[in-house]
Amino acid sequence: MKRENNMTLDDFRLYAHNMVDEIADYFENIENLPPKSLVKPGDILSQLPESAPEKAEDFNSIYDDFKQIIMPGITHWQHPKFMAYFPANSSYPALLGELLSSALASQCMIWDTSPAAAELEERVMQWLRDMCGLPKSWEGVIQDTASTATLAALLSAREKKSSYKINQSGFDGSEKFTVYCSEQAHSSIEKAAKIAGFGRTALRLIKTDENFAMDVNDLEQNIKRDLAEGFVPCFAVAAIGTTGSTAIDPLAAIGEICNRYGIWLHVDAAYAGTAMLLPEYRHFINGAEFVDSYVFNPHKWMFTNFDCTAYFVKDKEALVRTFEILPEYLKTKSDDVVNNYRDWGIQLGRRFRALKLWFVIRSFGIEQMQQIIRNQIKWVQNVAKQMKVHPNFEILAPVSLNLICFRLVPSIELNSEEINNINAKFLETINSDGKLYLTHTKLNGKYTIRMVAGQTYLKEYHVQEAWATILETAEQFLQTNKN
Ligand code: PLP
Repeated sequence: MKRENNMTLDDFRLYAHNMVDEIADYFENIENLPPKSLVKPGDILSQLPESAPEKAEDFNSIYDDFKQIIMPGITHWQHPKFMAYFPANSSYPALLGELLSSALASQCMIWDTSPAAAELEERVMQWLRDMCGLPKSWEGVIQDTASTATLAALLSAREKKSSYKINQSGFDGSEKFTVYCSEQAHSSIEKAAKIAGFGRTALRLIKTDENFAMDVNDLEQNIKRDLAEGFVPCFAVAAIGTTGSTAIDPLAAIGEICNRYGIWLHVDAAYAGTAMLLPEYRHFINGAEFVDSYVFNPHKWMFTNFDCTAYFVKDKEALVRTFEILPEYLKTKSDDVVNNYRDWGIQLGRRFRALKLWFVIRSFGIEQMQQIIRNQIKWVQNVAKQMKVHPNFEILAPVSLNLICFRLVPSIELNSEEINNINAKFLETINSDGKLYLTHTKLNGKYTIRMVAGQTYLKEYHVQEAWATILETAEQFLQTNKN
């Protein structure tokens, strides 16, 4: 339907009230939807007009199209049976925070452009640091993603190592800087090495042990070999919770080596960082005194919708000196007494992300957050125990938190490629009926199915039902694939 005017404030009030009700209905009924969208490539595109409308359209018809065309192509990340990848959690208070910050649409680049945003960010990052038992001397800033934070860390390490020379005059060919992370580390480190000018060949992928954690002997040997060949070891990343299997690198031993060789140590705890809310898991970060920078994503497991990455640094000066830039139009009287977060990362413009984090932390409270995370870990580990004794399943990595890496083991003799193919087919079968969504990785060349149960409103019965679906599908699958 065509109309002459844009949406009025009265229209907005009406539509927004209605939409909030429908969002609540969506959450109430989410379990009736398939967690993974079942559309085929091109299904959505073919329903969208090739050119934009010349005339204003009525919002009712736009919203109808959202329901008819867009919703079927949505994968429901907040569905409790979305047990794929890692979660990207939301929660009701986070959503309200996001709604308000969208309404204010503040541009939080400097203190002056929204003092409350800067000061709230400063305070919630202190809260978060203390809630997770991180060193009191660290200071934090909210970034958009862990990838951005890791790039910021690498750039800071590069500048510190070169006495801030590369920022000034670029690489002159004499800096043969090297970067270290385990072969299980996240691809964002390779991306950062490429973007920061180190190059892919400067990246050393360190071997892992039988638990997929970094082998510190191999780390030290690589460093020694690099030094002997004239390279300058600059940056190392320890993973607390790898993407593949939530493997935990031995932080204290890595830290001791980095300290000895003057290497910047960055911790990637993008997913598992939330588990630091629980004192019983804080041994994962023994050795934090050696750490220069640390990233974790409240937008993964800590109930705060994407995007919201917590980035902590030991030496704020190294960060700010790396990114500081002060054109005349951004100079203010308060520059010396406040945090101007434009200097704490790559982008100038920044969203007001602290608001949703504040809403989440206050609405849940530390105790309830701890209870939720603790329960989720317990429920998943109960399934892992049952899987371990089942003759048709094999667990392929330690279940350190709430992720199980497993595969189906047919009773008949098959070679490794055949087992991989069977498992790929098995995963496809699980996902095809719209009850559950799991994804895969490869560990030691073995096709590995990952089940991670960490949705905000997850209940124990969801985890048990997921296990029942896996069992049932396995029985039918093994029957039909006997030969
Ligand atoms: N590091 C780890 C261990 C991850 O699992 C992920 C994503 O899953 C990332 C980094 C990248 O996170 P982001 O999407 O916030 O850049």
